[in-house]
Amino acid sequence: MQLKINGIWLMLIMLTGVFSLLFLWFTLFPGRVNPELGQYFTDRQISQGRDYVRGMRLVFIGGFIAQIVFLLWLVFGGKAAALSRGIQQFTGGGLAGYVAFFFVLWLLLRLINLPFDMLGSYYWQHRWGFSTQTLGSWWLDYFKAAGLEVVLSTIGVALLFWVMSRWPGTWWLMGAAFLSLWLVVQSFLWPVLVSPLFNRFEPTKDPGVLAMVDELSLKAQLPVDRVLVMDASQRTTKANAYFTGLGNTRRIVLYDNLLADYPADEVKAVVAHEMAHWRQGHIVQGLGLGVLANFLIWGLLFMTLKSTIPISPYGNYPPYTWAVIVLFMTLVSFAASPLTNHFSRNMEFEADRVAVQLTGDAPAAERLQVNLAGKNLSDVSPPAFIEWFSYSHPPALARIKAIRQAAE
Ligand SMILES: [Zn+2]
Repeated sequence: MQLKINGIWLMLIMLTGVFSLLFLWFTLFPGRVNPELGQYFTDRQISQGRDYVRGMRLVFIGGFIAQIVFLLWLVFGGKAAALSRGIQQFTGGGLAGYVAFFFVLWLLLRLINLPFDMLGSYYWQHRWGFSTQTLGSWWLDYFKAAGLEVVLSTIGVALLFWVMSRWPGTWWLMGAAFLSLWLVVQSFLWPVLVSPLFNRFEPTKDPGVLAMVDELSLKAQLPVDRVLVMDASQRTTKANAYFTGLGNTRRIVLYDNLLADYPADEVKAVVAHEMAHWRQGHIVQGLGLGVLANFLIWGLLFMTLKSTIPISPYGNYPPYTWAVIVLFMTLVSFAASPLTNHFSRNMEFEADRVAVQLTGDAPAAERLQVNLAGKNLSDVSPPAFIEWFSYSHPPALARIKAIRQAAE
């Protein structure tokens, strides 16, 4: 059965093609380094950052292209339909056919991505001395994450196809509503149910950090009662921190590396930045945008499926519809990444500004940016396209300038 390529597909495929080629081009030829960076970083730091990040970008775009080419061949080459028929004969149809098709596709995509996963998160991290993980512990992480993903996705797929057959005209509304609800539930539960499967989290006991958190939370007028330290050093030497959770699962998480390797005033700058995300309600804003995007994307998916897959007026969508959905969602999220990153960078700028108001210590915030970018080997002089397309955080120099402005 031949699937129809309509205008939405053409637009998505063209946009993805152009973005991928530009990404690859600027990864290979990043252009000259912004001379202003000389004030903050040595030439060696800048070139090492570029070398390390080039490898990461090649792994990312290589994995993405491999996956998209496979999905396009599967969907528009008629292979997905053939596989779907074979599976339906084998399982005798019904919901089992849908779940079996999902599982086969999931396994194939995991296999295609495995070499890229391994290169990016194991081999390259060791090569640059960031990873502290053994291969055995890497595999353990991999299987835990895959197991969790396959269980949750199987439930999701079974629900989706049930809803699609039950409400053929409005399933997309139900799908979007359900996924939105899941986004909220997940934000609430993830830090308490899932993150502890991979790391240990303990309340900070350091009296200096506790006093600093109290001082900041008083100034921010926020009841920050959970600042947790994560044993990140069992995987990486990089330092980081994040803010997560919803309602009473909200927490600020600091990597143990950060506390061990950074001076107190820079740790304070980090905590203030995470508190600023908290105070400005960035998680709720992110969820709001996610919910809005959900309805748009599911509406678009509904129209696309209707004009792509020919079904009889009484028939249901066949199991290979799942491959079409995965292709569609992968293309949409890739093509939309400049938009999502734009929102994310704005929130980061805002958090930096508010943090400086809280600490009143712009020099420490600047030093923190220099230290983090230098030690974690960031690409501090990214090509404009790559920054626009894939940076969820502004590059160090832009952050330093914004911090200076906020302090004036
Ligand atoms: Zn942030």
